Amino acid sequence: MLLDTFGRTATDMRVSLTDKCNLRCTYCMPAEGLPWLASETLLTDDELVRLVRVAASMGVRTVRLTGGEPLIRPGLPGLVARLAEHVELSLTTNGLGLGRLAAPLHAAGLRRVNVSLDTLRADRFLALTRRDRLHDVVEGLAAAVTAGLSPVKVNTVLMRGVNDDEAGELLDWCLDLGYELRFIEQMPLDPEHVWDRGVMVTADEILTRLSKRHTLTPADDRGSAPAEVWLVDGGPARVGVVGSVTRPFCGTCDRIRLTADGQLRTCLFAREESDLRAPLRAGADDAELAERMAVAVRGKKVGHGIDDPSFLQPDRPMSAIGG
Ligand code: SAM
Repeated sequence: MLLDTFGRTATDMRVSLTDKCNLRCTYCMPAEGLPWLASETLLTDDELVRLVRVAASMGVRTVRLTGGEPLIRPGLPGLVARLAEHVELSLTTNGLGLGRLAAPLHAAGLRRVNVSLDTLRADRFLALTRRDRLHDVVEGLAAAVTAGLSPVKVNTVLMRGVNDDEAGELLDWCLDLGYELRFIEQMPLDPEHVWDRGVMVTADEILTRLSKRHTLTPADDRGSAPAEVWLVDGGPARVGVVGSVTRPFCGTCDRIRLTADGQLRTCLFAREESDLRAPLRAGADDAELAERMAVAVRGKKVGHGIDDPSFLQPDRPMSAIGG
């Protein structure tokens, strides 16, 4: 078991498949100049499968593939098929490659997908992501439904003066098309370090805006899920809000993260990592890798510490941690 000293057990792992991305969202990556992880440091498929298998033997049951952009990893359906032998798999993506990959990924064993989409307006999409690809995301979402991935969720980060006026519109669009929308509070992980708690759009504010158009009633028990979920107009449609900053859920956190270069992190905001790649490549057996995971999880902090006056953003950008 991967148990920490605050009584939490890690059963969910975010696995980053690459730090590269084919969008450049302003709140996530700089336009250019971000140094990439050296290719020889990236875990191979065999190494990834091995670490996930060991994690599964220690109680990890679900894995969410992420990045960077996970769909740009070569040979992804083959990797998914191998991972699906050990864990239940979901994936977070910008949706650009889903038109091509949704069906083969579903056939390989992928169950669910979260697609990030912050605006329905092409000009804003271009300004926010620095790429003119809104139509590809919309097509990708439709392809995910056709392929049988379920549920298909949409992740939206609202930013004041950028897209916060679209909250209601995005919800109605998702309701129409059968996607489950999740609003995510913007976190201090931006490349320019200009995030400001006083300016960010809070969960309370999002709920107030949505309540002007719809009746929201709390849905079932949230468990360890990051999102608080509401039934929309009595259900069955639902909407979620991930209040990472103003409604932190560290007390029930069951997540750990594996970076594309084989570092285990116990929190998105951790400043320490445990190197699994070096022992793996030096010939460590499964027992040693499992022990290293257990030791890392025992060091997990009580909370992410965003509110602590001594809080510092992690050294790695979000794209290299795995969102
Ligand atoms: N490329 C994939 C995608 O677009 O979903 C996966 C990686 S991306 C880093 C994962 C999620 O992190 C996206 O939904 C993105 O909006 C979110 N994200 C990135 N930076 C963020 C920030 N500073 N605060 C909150 N969410 C952020």
